[in-house]
Amino acid sequence: MIKFGPSGTSEDFTLAGHTHTEEMPQWLAEHELDCFEYSFGRGVRIRQDTATAIGAEFAKLNKEISVHAPYFINLATKEEEKAENNHRYIFDSLAALTWFGGNRCVIHPGSPLKEERGAAMDILMKRLEKVAVLKHEYGYDDKLLCLETMGKQAQLGSLDEVIRMCSLDSSFIPCVDFGHLNARDQGVFFTKDDYKRVIDKLLQGVGEEKTNIMHVHFSKIEYSGKGEVRHLTFDDEKYGPPYEPLMQVFAEYGLQPYVICESAGTQTRDAQLMRRSYYAVKR
Ligand SMILES: [Zn+2]
Repeated sequence: MIKFGPSGTSEDFTLAGHTHTEEMPQWLAEHELDCFEYSFGRGVRIRQDTATAIGAEFAKLNKEISVHAPYFINLATKEEEKAENNHRYIFDSLAALTWFGGNRCVIHPGSPLKEERGAAMDILMKRLEKVAVLKHEYGYDDKLLCLETMGKQAQLGSLDEVIRMCSLDSSFIPCVDFGHLNARDQGVFFTKDDYKRVIDKLLQGVGEEKTNIMHVHFSKIEYSGKGEVRHLTFDDEKYGPPYEPLMQVFAEYGLQPYVICESAGTQTRDAQLMRRSYYAVKR
């Protein structure tokens, strides 16, 4: 089933007097949403009993929870010690995900440091291969690692690069951030055909199964010549991309993605807008 939900706690969640993630599944139910992404952007800091209690609430209301691994992970690092730390951040995220009872962990792959792009990509692929081996060893075969397309040209994570990364393991799937892809190339999504090109490329590159269950991040994002500047809300009419044609493409292709809205503060409302737009065409 296709799922829609917010990333992090939105302004309206806080304004409604909610303070704890345990209250999130009920909030999702009240807003006809299906899922939630918990961000460990600044580090994996959660106690097992807290995470287990949150997970129990999600299970009770039949809502799904995913996690976002720390933003400072860089799998393109040459230094062994840093690589080991990166691996630890990933496996700490997977441990927390397991306590939550979730299935998906999103990661930002990394950026070249001093190497040229191809060499950096080679290092990253080597590091990711190790992640695949460890993931199996540690018993996380059932967890999906979602590799994200990134918003700045300097970052590794073009659509082609993410497709390449996904080839390393059956549990590595794409996290297609359409706002990032749009910002990276200074505005590329306007019509259904623009989105279809991405889906067709994924079908070719990672296959039907992974495309069907892909992870999606969506928000409108301001960009400059180098790509992403900041996340906006759906009220923006300048930068885009528009969500409506993408919802039509999801419906037409019969895809079942996990769609997370990353709007700045209005992610609950905007996830609802996407959901309604999708069900207006999918009957
Ligand atoms: Zn991300």
